[in-house]
Amino acid sequence: MTKRRNFIKSGLALGVVVAANPLKSCAESIEKEEEATFQERKPVVLSTWRFGIEANEEAWKVLGESGSALDAVERGVKLVEADPNERSVGYGGRPDRDGRVTLDACIMDHNANIGSVASLEHIKHPVSVARAVMEQTPHVMLVGDGALQFALEQGFPKENLLTPESEAEWKEWLVNSEYKPIVNIENHDTIGMIALDEHGNLSGACTTSGMAFKMHGRVGDSPIIGAGLYVDNEVGAATATGHGEEVIRVVGAHLVVHLMRQGKSPQAACKEAVELIKHKLELRNGNLEETQIGFIALNKKGEHGAYALNKGFNYAVKDAEGNTLEDAESLRH
Ligand code: ASP
Repeated sequence: MTKRRNFIKSGLALGVVVAANPLKSCAESIEKEEEATFQERKPVVLSTWRFGIEANEEAWKVLGESGSALDAVERGVKLVEADPNERSVGYGGRPDRDGRVTLDACIMDHNANIGSVASLEHIKHPVSVARAVMEQTPHVMLVGDGALQFALEQGFPKENLLTPESEAEWKEWLVNSEYKPIVNIENHDTIGMIALDEHGNLSGACTTSGMAFKMHGRVGDSPIIGAGLYVDNEVGAATATGHGEEVIRVVGAHLVVHLMRQGKSPQAACKEAVELIKHKLELRNGNLEETQIGFIALNKKGEHGAYALNKGFNYAVKDAEGNTLEDAESLRH
């Protein structure tokens, strides 16, 4: 995208576009061309972390066939939920400190329909249960046993999600049982996905097993609409990964979208939200080094951005031209 835009600009600079009133026309043309270029940039899908590459490809099976962003994000993140080797999402996710795999997920569409589940056990696809909450109930969030009961009623199979690998890690952790939930150290945490479809509609989904060895019942930002995910079809969408408590404190994803509504680019909005989190951490003498936060954002024109507190956060971007893993800029290096 950037490349195409630069090409347009340099084309103009070289006089490829010639007009009677060159200065005025050039400026107008640039604006129009950029507008046209951005409007062309749909569909587009963005996901957190390296596993976002495969998830984006999966989502593209919907987006590339003129499907909806809502169907795309659900399908995309389900790929990661089902993968036992991704140890921070869905099946194979690391358990809580009691050895129970409890999952958090949410979904939001272009009409501000929302659904969410928190602390859900035994169901491989919490995002689909969240979608069922959105579509089949008058509510927006179900938790724990109630969420499980609802999922079973909806026909989701009850499964054991604790893989031998995750169980072994938990048993190793039990030796010292040091309660120090760690996030985003190994680059494979929550998957948050936001997409703009061919029809110009935005949707998003977010799903995770949360912090490894967390207290039973702990809920992070990921299933909380406004914190881990937010979509405003007039403006843009954003999703978060990292230390959920810090994201909730500033209602992170909503903040990013709100900043975009005020005219900030996705990148600038993500940066400002991270700056606020840093500021709040500093006020509380929090540990900046051991806290990671990452936001990704997409606006209605198809422009994207991302920002993190610490170095190491990456995200995947797919449009008709390709699917690339990008390193997010960060406040701390
Ligand atoms: N945000 C998730 C949580 O706090 C974890 C993560 O993304 O690393 O549960």
